[in-house]
Amino acid sequence: PLVLGIETSCDETGIGIVRGHTLLANTIASSMDEHARFGGVVPEVASRAHLEAMTPTVEAALAQAGLKFSDIDAIAVTAGPGLAGALLVGVAAAKSYALGLGVPLYGVNHLAAHVAVDQLEHGPLPKPCIAMLVSGGHSSLLLVPDVAEDVISLGSTVDDAAGEAFDKVARVLGLPFPGGPHIDRAAREGSGTAIAFPRGKLDDGTLDFSFSGLKTAVARWVEAREASGESVHVPDVAASFQEAVVDVLTRKALQACRKYDVHDLLVGGGVAANSRLRALAQERCDAAGVRLRVPRPGLCTDNGAMVAALGSDLVAAGVTPSTLEIPADSSLPITTVHV
Ligand code: ATP
Ligand code: MG
Ligand code: FE
Repeated sequence: PLVLGIETSCDETGIGIVRGHTLLANTIASSMDEHARFGGVVPEVASRAHLEAMTPTVEAALAQAGLKFSDIDAIAVTAGPGLAGALLVGVAAAKSYALGLGVPLYGVNHLAAHVAVDQLEHGPLPKPCIAMLVSGGHSSLLLVPDVAEDVISLGSTVDDAAGEAFDKVARVLGLPFPGGPHIDRAAREGSGTAIAFPRGKLDDGTLDFSFSGLKTAVARWVEAREASGESVHVPDVAASFQEAVVDVLTRKALQACRKYDVHDLLVGGGVAANSRLRALAQERCDAAGVRLRVPRPGLCTDNGAMVAALGSDLVAAGVTPSTLEIPADSSLPITTVHV
C-alpha cells in the first residue's frame, strides 16, 4: 500500500510517500529562515507557515512520485510530541485528506518515526535493537523490540537535549541558529582535544545524559578568555565541545547494547547528522562487535518520509487505524508509538 506521511511538529512541513520501505517522494518546506533572527523557533510563525506550505508540499510530493491523490491508500501524521499549534495543522490536514480520500488515518509518534525512517535506507530493523535518539528536543536511549508496537525508554537527558546544547554553544560562539551544522563544520578545522570539557554523567551507572554542565563550562571558558583579552579559536572550542558530546553519547549507547545484550544500534534524530558522531560511533561499534545503522543526514533531521515509514509499518502490522477524533499531543510519550 501507498502511504503518505505528514510531519509538522516543529518548523519543517515535511511530506513523504512510501510503498512498504521504498521511498517514492520526500518534500520539505522549512520556515527556519523566518525564525533564525529570533535565535529559536517562534511557534505562531511556524503554525502559519505550515498552513501556507501544506497544499503545495503535498502536491510537490505527489508530482515527485508521479502519483495522484486517488493512488494513496493511507495517511500517516505526526500526532506528537512537538509544538501544539504546529502539530494541529498537520493533524487537521491529515484528517481532511483521510476523510476526503476515504482511506485510513494513522497518528504516529514523531520520535518513533525518527527510528523507523532508517528502514527506508537499510531495510527492516533487527528485533530488538537499541536506538539512540538525539535531536533538538530529545536525547534518549531506547530498547526497541518492534518499532510499530513497542518502544521502551532506557534513559534520557536530565536537562538539555544534545541538539539544544549544540544550538546554545553555537550562540556563545557567534554561529547562526540552528547551530549544529555550523559547529560540525567549524570543528573540522579544530582539535577535539584542545580543551578538556566535562563529560556529564559519564560513568554514573545510568543510561541518562546531562549536557547543561557542559554548555555552561563552554560559556565560562569563552567568557574567561574574552575577559583576559585572549582570542578564542572557534574551531578548537567547537571541536572540543563536540568531542565531549559525542564521547558521552557513543559510550552510553554501547553500554546500553552491552547491558541488554543487543548487537544492533541505530542512531537517529537531527544530531545523528553530525559527522563526528557518525565516525566515532562507527569506530566504537566496530571495536565492540555491534552493527551500526545511521540514516543519511537528510533523513536524520525532520522530514515526512519518516512519518510515512512508520505509517507503513503500522499498516503492515495490521494496527487499528486512528479515529478522526485524535488530538495533537504536544507531550506524547515516546512509549506511545501510535494513537
Ligand atoms: P525533536 O525531534 O526532538 O522534536 P527537532 O524536531 O527540533 O527535535 P530535528 O530535526 O530532529 O529537530 O533535530 C534538529 C537538531 O539537530 C538541532 O538542534 C540541530 O542543531 C541539530 N543538528 C542538525 N544537524 C547537526 C549536525 N550536523 N551536528 C550536530 N547537530 C545537528
Ligand atoms: Mg527542524
Ligand atoms: Fe525531530
